[in-house]
Amino acid sequence: MTLRVAIVGTGPGGFYTADALLKSDVELEIDLIDRLPTPFGLIRGGVAPDHQTTKRVIKAYDRSAQNECVRFYGNVELGKDVALEELKALYDAVVLAVGSPLDRKLGIPGEDKKGVFGAAAFVGWYNAHPDFRNLDPDLACSAAAVIGNGNVAIDIARVLVKTPEEMAETDLSDYAATAIHGGAVEDVYMFGRRGPVEAKFTNVELREMGNLTDCHPVVDPADLPNEVTGEWSARDRRLRERNLETLREFTALDPADKSKRVHFAFYANPVEILGGAHVEALRLERTAVENGRARGTGEFFEIECGLVLPAIGYQAVPVPGVPFDEDNGVIVNEDGHVGDGVYCAGWVKRGPTGVIGTNKPDGDVVAHRILDNLGAGAGKEGRRGLEALLAGKGVRHVTYDDWQKIDAAEISAAADPAPRRKFAAVEEMLAVLES
Ligand code: NAP
Repeated sequence: MTLRVAIVGTGPGGFYTADALLKSDVELEIDLIDRLPTPFGLIRGGVAPDHQTTKRVIKAYDRSAQNECVRFYGNVELGKDVALEELKALYDAVVLAVGSPLDRKLGIPGEDKKGVFGAAAFVGWYNAHPDFRNLDPDLACSAAAVIGNGNVAIDIARVLVKTPEEMAETDLSDYAATAIHGGAVEDVYMFGRRGPVEAKFTNVELREMGNLTDCHPVVDPADLPNEVTGEWSARDRRLRERNLETLREFTALDPADKSKRVHFAFYANPVEILGGAHVEALRLERTAVENGRARGTGEFFEIECGLVLPAIGYQAVPVPGVPFDEDNGVIVNEDGHVGDGVYCAGWVKRGPTGVIGTNKPDGDVVAHRILDNLGAGAGKEGRRGLEALLAGKGVRHVTYDDWQKIDAAEISAAADPAPRRKFAAVEEMLAVLES
């Protein structure tokens, strides 16, 4: 018998689950379904364009996708082109690995003004994600405020201040390169509601900010405690000590004649976005950290800025018919098992945390649950039925061979030394397949 598994979502969560299943000796058919014609989810649309080494993990995913048990069905959207109930009828297991594509909201007045873009949208825009290619942020302002002290906040700040030369070997979308490098942003404020010890960015990413060609990292030495206090594991304490050390080194750097600055502004909680229809300033309250939590001090200040970019975490979209934990923004599951032939993996399973590699052990857990529960499968129809269903609905699905053609077209369209020039529109991708 053959165990037939549909994995919806082809980012790290989906691929590591497929990979773990492929290690079993069960006879398998794994169908990878993605609403975009392109695979790799967050690696393509979320990882920063100047972090190409991180994107090399795609080589391993590519090997899994080309395994003879695996097929890719791109340009197929769950809930639009195919219903969950239809997949459940066709497959022994349906794994939802659909990520956390939405921005969490700040929940403060003024958040609906023009010039406020959540990280999912802004990162998607510069990464040529079809959903956000028309975002069209106005970068004619001199200052931008990034909210949050995580790695996504630091990614955004860095992409805004790197020079065209520093971005030459990246796959930054060409329209974003034009807007950013032709824009006027000189000061990027990174606001953390807590202090440097509590910041979530990792040290490699922080250190990078001290080595930029035309940008000086600004840190107020008064914000830096002499030592890391509080309850931390030995590992966490070491990581935080390293961050403190790096921030201390920043205070000693010579700004030379660098024309841009990233301001690490700690102990500042945004309370209102000010302006008319468009953002003109951000109002913040100074905080103090008590028992690890930010407490308002009643002292307020304002920063003039034309862009506010909250990078405060992501949230998943509930899948109709699947139990959803609203508080934690995840599908209700036990080790990836949801029930009734449905499983979940990646951020929609555990929340938007961890690095790419965190999805590997996570995928193992889900795969084991599937194998333990379903063994060799129940003789369901699988991909033959899926293809008939899609053909019947007139859905033009994109195969892995098709993706390789799109990939080759992107690579050949790149101006040296860029690795690729991404298509940002689904129609452009599909047009490659017609030529
Ligand atoms: P994150 O690491 O959870 O950081 C979110 C930040 O937003 C925190 O500083 C948090 O502050 C702040 N925040 C949350 N709600 C806020 C509010 N209402 N007002 C002000 N600040 C608020 O999330 P992320 O940066 O989105 O990253 C998601 C995951 O992807 C992380 O695990 C990250 O490490 C990973 N990632 C890794 C890389 C890399 O390895 N290079 C790159 C990008 C992303 P508090 O701490 O006070 O809550």
